[in-house]
Amino acid sequence: MYDIIIVGAGTAGLTAGIYGARAGKKVLILEQTTYGGQIINTPDIENYPGIAHVSGFEFAKGLYEQATGLGVLYKTEKVLGIETVPGSVSYVTKRVITSEGEYECGAVILATGAKNRPLGLKREQELIGAGVSYCATCDGAFFRKMDVAVVGGGNTALEDAAFLSGYCNRVYVIHRRDQFRGDERDVSKLRAKENVEFVLDSVVTGILGAGMVDGILIKNVKTGETTELSINGLFVAIGQMPDNQMFSGVVELDEQGYIVADESCETSTPGVFAAGDCRTKSVRQLTTAAADGAVAGLAAAKYTDTQQSF
Ligand code: NDP
Repeated sequence: MYDIIIVGAGTAGLTAGIYGARAGKKVLILEQTTYGGQIINTPDIENYPGIAHVSGFEFAKGLYEQATGLGVLYKTEKVLGIETVPGSVSYVTKRVITSEGEYECGAVILATGAKNRPLGLKREQELIGAGVSYCATCDGAFFRKMDVAVVGGGNTALEDAAFLSGYCNRVYVIHRRDQFRGDERDVSKLRAKENVEFVLDSVVTGILGAGMVDGILIKNVKTGETTELSINGLFVAIGQMPDNQMFSGVVELDEQGYIVADESCETSTPGVFAAGDCRTKSVRQLTTAAADGAVAGLAAAKYTDTQQSF
């Protein structure tokens, strides 16, 4: 029996744990893979207020140690569903069902983040681990001295390309427009690198290779011309998408599948809060994930206080 159960141990979830524990609550965090969320794959965070440089791994480790040091319990279990205990007017209002069992609690915080968006190409899924990757820092070293392509024009793609340029023979940055969504400073740094080449106004239309990737087809969206590019690694960095379908019967989702919740982190269901990239919002950054964690952690703690008076 817990006061608060948090689903997801990324920046939002761990921060919510810190705030919940500091409010004197018994907190359980359930995470299906490993703590840290998306930020764990970022080699260098440069935009967190007060910290000029820190690796995503160090940042996540610090958050995890801070949360568990405050007494937050952490379990690696996949959440399969959430139920409101029928007719409940008591302290126990929610039941969280996982791959390992069931837990009851007063409030739930959904901090499920978002997952990598695929290009949606034929054979893309089949070639994951055989040349297709969504994580340059995890897989970059496998492509030492080889030619690779990074798809995307956001900060992730730019950072991935910079990281890979340190290992790989040649790095192609393929972006569907000629303007980048990511920071101009990072674009300039990449332009200065001899082994980085920009392929703009272009989309990947096919992946070549039998058991392993050995090339891609690229279509120039302005000329309509399709060309073949020999590469061994295809790094897809075209943003994230939510992964909330399992909660569609519990909380309201928007058209894109994000949990409908405003800055208060309150969802359509009393006692269920949403924090971080999984909720509707315009800015998805490390700082906004941490801010949501604080808001949701305190709101959930307050909610359990009001339930206790029944
Ligand atoms: P973004 O949503 O910022 O960028 C996604 C990129 O992929 C865009 O350039 C987009 O093109 C392109 N894209 C989307 N769908 C497709 C598609 N189907 N085919 C081809 N291209 C596509 O995602 P990121 O993962 O880069 O970043 C997410 C957030 O995290 C951002 O706010 C970013 O600033 C932040 N971030 C911060 C970092 C840091 O501060 N150190 C590091 C990494 C990320 P288009 O531009 O045309 O829409």
